[in-house]
Order: sequence, then structure tokens, then C-alpha cells
Amino acid sequence: MKQLNEGRIFLLILLLAFFSVLGIRKMEAWGRYQTLQNKTVTEAQYRQDFYSDAMWEEKDSLSKECISLLENVENEVNYYPIPDSTVDKSLTTSFTDSWMAEREYNGTSGHEGTDIMASKNQRGVYPVISMTDGEVTNLGWLEKGGYRVGITSVSGTYYYYAHLECYSNLKEGDYVKAGELLGYMGDSGYGPEGTRGKFAVHLHVGIYTQKNGQEISVNPYYVLKSLENKKLKYAYS
Ligand SMILES: [Zn+2]
Repeated sequence: MKQLNEGRIFLLILLLAFFSVLGIRKMEAWGRYQTLQNKTVTEAQYRQDFYSDAMWEEKDSLSKECISLLENVENEVNYYPIPDSTVDKSLTTSFTDSWMAEREYNGTSGHEGTDIMASKNQRGVYPVISMTDGEVTNLGWLEKGGYRVGITSVSGTYYYYAHLECYSNLKEGDYVKAGELLGYMGDSGYGPEGTRGKFAVHLHVGIYTQKNGQEISVNPYYVLKSLENKKLKYAYS
């Protein structure tokens, strides 16, 4: 009888230890999230933000509010932004996790997005499609982003597609469906309107969620990974 009780107490201590570890992990994630919101982080801390390494894999250990923000994105992205070519199989794309990697333009900054690189370094070849349904809320030149399109989804998440060569027939206020053509991949940006060729042809993808009016940027790498087997087919070469 005495032995049985000791066994139970031991089990109880084990369970308590297990749940307190879980609780601490949750608090750590929440703490980092709040720091990020206040934008008082150094770049090194920012790089370690939980969005960059624990987005989908560890989302169960994050706070409910964080999870719901991430789930908005997860639920509304439908397609990889570059369709496969039915005509030329050598036209492929690739990307790596370059979240907060150093970028040089008018000083150094952290890379707030993912770059999808083109196997064929030629502007105007690869179509760029919308990953989500949404409204065209920005269209036009940005010094850094070149010709860019910004799509705001129903959840209020902002999807940013930059460095395009040209646009499809779009204007601000239009609604697009996931899979709809936005324009063509290019190498525009890093200068006054029309600047091209400052870097290789690629699509920069940025994703920004909102919480209490604060903008929080999400690492698109994990989103794009989840879309790699959701590519549409377009005829282009
Ligand atoms: Zn980029």
C-alpha cells in the first residue's frame, strides 16, 4: 500500500513537471510575440522570432491569439504564386529561408520575406498569380519593391508581391480569386520608377498580419513550403 502511494506521488510529480515545462514554453513564445509587437527588438532577436522557426511545426505550443493569426494565413492560401509551365519543363523556381538575412540598399536591413528565384533569368517570362482571394489594395511603383501588387484578404492579411516586370489588367479596388494572374516576374526596383536589373529576376513574397492595429510580418517560407505541391499549370515559355 505504501509503495503504491509513493508510485502515485512520483507519477504526479512527473506530470506536474511536464505541464510546467509546457507552460513556460507558451509564456516564452508569448513574450517574444509581445516584444515583436512593440518593435523594440534588435535584428538578432527578430531573426529568432518564433514565426521564423516554429511557425507551423510548433504552433500548438503558441498562444491562442498567435495561432489564430497563423491559421488565417494557413486557411486562405490556396496556390503557390508561380504556376508550372506546361510548355517548358526547364522553367522552374526555387527558394530558401532568407528571413531577416542582411540586405543592402540605402543601408542594411533585414529581409522581410522570401525570394522565389527563377531558373531562367529573364524578365517577363514567369506568370505571378495570387495565392489567395482578396482585394487589390496597392498597385504601383515602390523604390525598394519595384512594380508591386498588394492583396488584402478577407482576414485582413496583406500579401505583398514585388519586383514584377508588368501587371495583368488590374486596378486598385479590384477583387481577385486565388490563382488569378497578377503580372509577370521581373527584376524591377532599387531606384526610381522603371529601374531594372539591379539583381536577378525573382519574386519577393511578403506576408503581414494585423493584431490590434499593429502590423506583424510573418515568414513566408513556411507558407510557400506548404504550397509547393499546390501549383497551377499555365502555358508559358
Ligand atoms: Zn526579397
